[in-house]
Formats: sequence, C-alpha cells, structure tokens
Amino acid sequence: MSNASIVTIGNELLNGHTTDTNAAYICQQLLSVGIPVVSVYTVGDDISQIVRALKRAAEDADIIITTGGLGPTDDDLTRRAFAEFLGVELKTDSQLLETIRQFFAKRGLPMPERNAIQAHIPDGAEPIENPLGTAPGIYAKVQNKVLFALPGVPFEMNQMFEASVLPHIQKQGGDKYVIIRKVRCFGAGESVIAEKLGNLMARERNPLINSTVNSGIITLHVVSAGPNKEQAGDLAQKDVEYLHSLLGDLVFGVDDQTLPEVVGQLLTAQKKTVATAESCTGGLVAKLLTDIPGSSAYFTHGWITYSNKAKVEQLGVPQQFIDQYGAVSKQVCSAMAKSAQQKAQTDFAIAITGIAGPAGGSDQKPVGLVFISVCDSKNCRTERFIFPQDRVMIRLRSALTALNMLRLALKSDAG
Ligand code: ATP
Repeated sequence: MSNASIVTIGNELLNGHTTDTNAAYICQQLLSVGIPVVSVYTVGDDISQIVRALKRAAEDADIIITTGGLGPTDDDLTRRAFAEFLGVELKTDSQLLETIRQFFAKRGLPMPERNAIQAHIPDGAEPIENPLGTAPGIYAKVQNKVLFALPGVPFEMNQMFEASVLPHIQKQGGDKYVIIRKVRCFGAGESVIAEKLGNLMARERNPLINSTVNSGIITLHVVSAGPNKEQAGDLAQKDVEYLHSLLGDLVFGVDDQTLPEVVGQLLTAQKKTVATAESCTGGLVAKLLTDIPGSSAYFTHGWITYSNKAKVEQLGVPQQFIDQYGAVSKQVCSAMAKSAQQKAQTDFAIAITGIAGPAGGSDQKPVGLVFISVCDSKNCRTERFIFPQDRVMIRLRSALTALNMLRLALKSDAG
C-alpha cells in the first residue's frame, strides 16, 4: 500500500502567524482513500531546508506533497528546490506562460513580468492546472516516487488537490476504481464506535473503513475498490447499509449530510416546527438551523436569554428557580424550553444553559457543564453534559448535541 509524506513551506508557518491547515486537510483527504501520511515536515522559505525536507520525505514515503512557495516573489523557492532535488534545470513552459497571461487578461490586466517566473518548471516535470490563481502546481515522477507541489493558499490548494492530485493517486492503484462513502455518527466516542465495528476496521479489508472525528461528529469513511465504478459502488453501499444496521441511531446521515440538514429534513417530512431558547450558545442552534435554505418551514422563534433578567422577563423562568438552583440547572433549562414551546406554539422547543468558560466554573459547576432540554407539548427531556475543551468547542458541542436530541425525539415520534 502507498504512503505519503507532506512538506509545508513558508516562514509564516514557523513564526506562528499561520496555522498549518494544509497538512491537516491533506492528511484527512489521503486517509479517506486509505493512504496513511507517515510524516509532515514544515520548513521556512529557505532553499536548502526545502531540499533537505524533500529528501527526508522521499526516504519516508512514495507520495510526496508540498504546499506553498509557488508564488512570484523572491521568497517563493519551491520550483528551484524541486529542480535541485530532481537534479534537473528549470525551463520555461511556454503554454503555461500563456495560461498565466490569460489569467490576467480575463481580469483586464497585463501580466506583471514577475509572474513569468511561475511558468518555470523543472525539466521533465508537468504543470498542474490552478483554475483559481496564478500559481500552477508541479507534478514529477522520479524512480518509484511521485511528487506534487501545490500552492499555499488553502482555497486554491484544496481545489487542485481534489481535481488533480487525488484522481492521479487513485489511478496509481492499478486498474482499480475507488469509491468513498461516508457514514456520519453522533452520540458516542470514537472508541465506542470502533468497538462496535470489531474487525470491520481491519487494514487489509476491502472496503477499508477509517474514522475521523470533528466536534463530536464521527465520520466513518468507507473506501471501496473494485474493477469498475458499479462494483466498487455496490460494495461500498453494502457496507454503508451494514454500518447503519450495526450502529442504529448513532448514525445521523451519509456522505456530506450535516446534522442541521438531517433535522430540517425530519421536521419538514413530519410537518413539525421548532423554537429555541439559548443562553451559553448565544443563538448558535438557531443559526445552524437557519443556515439551511427552506428553514422557515419549521423554525419560528429563537430567544437568546443570556442574562438571568432575560430568562425571567422574556421566558417567564421563575426567579425562585434561579435563586434556588442557579441559572445553569436542570430546572431552569426545562423551564426555558417549556416556556419557549408554549410562547411560540411550536411542536418542539430546544433550550440550552451552561458554562462555556473560561471563567465562571466552580467545583459543583465546572466549565463545560451544560444542560439541554428538548420539549414538546407533553414531554420534556433534559440532559446534563460536561463538554471538554475550550469555549468555542463547548458551545459547538452543545449546539450539535441539542440538534441530535431533537433528531432522536423526531425519530421516536415517527417510529
Ligand atoms: P502565492 O504566493 O501565489 O499566494 P504560494 O504557493 O507562494 O502562492 P504562499 O505564499 O506560500 O503560497 O502562501 C500564501 C498564503 O497561503 C499564506 O500567506 C498563508 O496565509 C496561506 N498558507 C500557506 N501555507 C499554508 C498552510 N500550510 N496552511 C494554511 N495556510 C497556508
């Protein structure tokens, strides 16, 4: 099986001004097609450092991907480093020069002479088209290694990776056709899910199943290889269905479906409505719900009752509850949800109250403590969570968990 090494290039990555999201993106993409990344090197705009990193990467792996250093300025050294590593000269690719000229012409601008340098590529290498910018990528093959140089700008790099690099890598796998499906889960940790899957995650299996985790969402990537699209697709579909039956309600969607989308589809299908009453999430649940086009069919009201005063005045939460139990309590949360449901006259209401931090925690009520209620006109379910990490993550996990609780309530209503 192939493996890969990544070299990210740029002083801005070493002085802490830019977080290296390119490496993370490429690692995730490659893992999703069953190619492990065995090393990542980050180097500054220094030709000898870049060449040294390329040599190390070539010792580690058979696919080498670099990002950055392809611009027209003096600190853009990747072309020269590639030529030195490959032991060849740089040459001007006249077709590439014309493409760059056209890029400017389409915007009504003459090409600055400096940009001509971007048409230089190592002898024997091939350019990779960059439809979103002036920096073309470079593809080279040396012995049994393949090298790809991509620009640093994430928006351009992502597009080129998906359009040119990934198909090329997949083709290298022989005559195999690779299909990737995703099964998206929420409500259990990665290890609980891995336990349930047992030996389905065995490395030599086809389809290969990999898992990634982001904000509590576990994505199982089903990477299926077959002699043609249909057979690879059928094999993947069988696994998707099997994973669904194995994991039950932990699965909220497939492929690129998001939790808010799935909740919106369930609400629409059941002709149900929802209102929100949020404290520590400051309207995030309402935002996630209304990000979806057509959400006016099911989302009616959203209260952000951040202060105790707002909870009492806007939602009629009894002052006595706040005095006796505190604003972050099961009693206050369910009172917020019940009141929102009654005032909005919706089928459901969601309420959230918690301590997002970094200050405001205590031994009894630590940072990350969050109560979430989902109520309809008859029942009210309130759960207590302690979410890890920082303010951003606590708020996001709270909002996604609330949506997941609503999804489960809608499913049990339907079932
Ligand atoms: P150009 O100079 O034409 O923009 P380039 O290939 O030379 O393209 P760089 O100059 O290295 O790219 O980077 C451009 C910008 O892209 C950087 O200022 C930085 O904001 C972002 N960038 C570069 N590398 C990374 C990375 N590894 N992760 C995230 N962002 C990056």
